[in-house]
Amino acid sequence: MLKVEHIGIAVKDFNTSITLFEKLLNTSCYKTETVTGENVNTAFFKQGETKIELLESITSDGVIAKFIDKKGEGIHHIAFEVTDIETEMKRLQDEGFILLNEVPKQGADNKLVCFLHPKNTNGVLIELCQERM
Ligand code: ZN
Repeated sequence: MLKVEHIGIAVKDFNTSITLFEKLLNTSCYKTETVTGENVNTAFFKQGETKIELLESITSDGVIAKFIDKKGEGIHHIAFEVTDIETEMKRLQDEGFILLNEVPKQGADNKLVCFLHPKNTNGVLIELCQERM
């Protein structure tokens, strides 16, 4: 894995949180994007090498809505950048990790992504992401 590409944070109110993070990080949100397959709005901030991704559910039963119902707002996942997502998926599967996606799927920010089940990763949802060519 190359680096922490971004940290995903589940939020209830998108615009309020964008304003808050703009103040906190002293930088503007450079991109918002709706990922319809995941029922989320995403907003991105750059901080050096790493990004912060805010996630807001666009449906009341989406994964982010369910996460907030259970745990409240907060860190939702940590995303690691990889050069070859399929090779990394195979490696992790062979190590006994449980992949939540059998094949890489389209994520926000022009990425191919795959998530690992948090029950094998100390409760932390891990995302692998690879820049799309
Ligand atoms: Zn993410």
